[in-house]
Amino acid sequence: PVPTTLDAETLWRQDRDHFVHPFTDFSVFHDKGCELITDAEGIHVQDIHGNRFIDGIAGLWCVNVGHGRAEIGQAMAEQATRMAYFSTFNNLSNAPATRLAAKLAELAPAHLNHVFYSCGGSTANDATIRLVHYYFNRLGKPNKKRILSRHNAYHGTTYLAASLTGIESNNWEFDTLDGLVTHLSEANLYRRPEGMDEAQYCDHLVAELEATIAEIGADNIAAFIAEPIMGAGGVLVAPRGYHARMQEVLRAHDILYIADEVVTGFGRLGHIFASEAVFDTQPDVINLAKGLSSGYAPLGATLISDRLYEVLGTPQGKGGVLSTGFTYSGHPVSCAAALKNIEILEREELCANVREVGPYLEQALATLSRHPTVGDVRGSHFMMCIENVADKDTKALFPVDARVGDRVAFEAQQRGLIIRPVGHLNVISPPLIWTRDTVDEAVAILDEALAATA
Ligand code: PLP
Repeated sequence: PVPTTLDAETLWRQDRDHFVHPFTDFSVFHDKGCELITDAEGIHVQDIHGNRFIDGIAGLWCVNVGHGRAEIGQAMAEQATRMAYFSTFNNLSNAPATRLAAKLAELAPAHLNHVFYSCGGSTANDATIRLVHYYFNRLGKPNKKRILSRHNAYHGTTYLAASLTGIESNNWEFDTLDGLVTHLSEANLYRRPEGMDEAQYCDHLVAELEATIAEIGADNIAAFIAEPIMGAGGVLVAPRGYHARMQEVLRAHDILYIADEVVTGFGRLGHIFASEAVFDTQPDVINLAKGLSSGYAPLGATLISDRLYEVLGTPQGKGGVLSTGFTYSGHPVSCAAALKNIEILEREELCANVREVGPYLEQALATLSRHPTVGDVRGSHFMMCIENVADKDTKALFPVDARVGDRVAFEAQQRGLIIRPVGHLNVISPPLIWTRDTVDEAVAILDEALAATA
């Protein structure tokens, strides 16, 4: 029987002995064990001891509509009891998956009208690269295989997605696929080469792309994949015009542009999709997960352009089928959650809230620059980051074992706010329902946390 009350001591032991946590430092874990989060409502989460925190990271950049939405739970329960699962292979389908595909086509830029479902962000990226290779194979261009990604990009941890990922520490002692991916420079305004202004830096990055294409040969390159704003790699906002100019070069060489909007999608930058609305690009593919279902159920999706679908969606001949997909592609319960999630986003005009409160959050966080250890405060709207440094003039970092990001996060959590440490960085990526009052409360806590860390 499932116990009705939670026994903290037993759970703590079971977790430590049996749950292999993802992205976890075991030296800390063995010492401290886990922190059990048991309840969540609105912008708050609560641990097993009854301590309440403001959620400053939307779970993991994903609970966009906030916690405890009973109507999402009800939509999932209704679908689970009516028809929890059936295959979508061959010509089988289910109503939530169909409706969600149509809704995504309605919301997406005009040329993206086709949806391939996966289970999350990694599988969306993994499936996309397979589809892109398949596309060029079918066009009789089998050499177009190389994928251009960027240093410090994060695209997930399936073998293929981890190979796209450019955060070196993420792949430490892990293997990646040989010869598939070439990583270009990240677009890092804070740490750009000395003496370059923003426009010159943009020219420099575009020139690097051109030189890389010249070196590898456009006939050998399938696609470029990029997050509109790099997330886990440090919330890096590219120089003005970067994405559109990169797209122009890629187009000229018949190289596809894949936008990984796993984090930026569904409102974090004030629009359902950032690619067109914010960055003036028309990607061939947009990948989604996280905010698509606000984390209420696992779900990923690849939005495919009409041009690609003309090839992917035509019969293979010889009885062949498009042989890729997952048991849970178009899972009815996940799709029901996503539909209700989108309904809430639209009804409560949460994108408009982000456009209104986002600049206020940016300004409030910028005041933290007065702390001697805050080298940079950057990001856009509800996707923000603090870069902690040992020396503001030289931008020198603290030694890794100083764990500065962990310490700031710890001090914030002691005061009732959860933010995310990523090495020497601290990420703030709140649910889209944060108000100006929440910003004031959170930034006051951060102010104290930074003072306590120094
Ligand atoms: N792409 C981006 C931009 C991400 O930030 C993430 C996760 O943080 C992923 C892909 C991977 O998504 P998932 O963890 O759902 O596989």
